[in-house]
Amino acid sequence: MRSQILAGMDVPDNRHPDVPCDVCGTSMRVPGYGEQFGVLQAHWGYGARHDGERYRVRMCETCFFMTLAYLRQERRIHHLFGEAPQHEDYKFGRIARDDYWLDS
Ligand SMILES: [Zn+2]
Repeated sequence: MRSQILAGMDVPDNRHPDVPCDVCGTSMRVPGYGEQFGVLQAHWGYGARHDGERYRVRMCETCFFMTLAYLRQERRIHHLFGEAPQHEDYKFGRIARDDYWLDS
């Protein structure tokens, strides 16, 4: 099983039409900077209930962070009575910061 949420960036390409956000339908193109989006995707393999199914949801920045907020809330509920500290919730899912060139 592979599942992931990714943030991506494409270079401007006038050969392809504007790709809308899969959730709200707005353009993911940032004028002058190409498309910028987050991706929720999975490829379920042998043994999974959804074996052989692939998913990909491309989201604009707003929808990506709304999704992340939902997941953060779910995580909070699951760990409500646990021992895990909750004080680093704000950076849930973030694996880099100040990484402008995808080099970490
Ligand atoms: Zn959206």
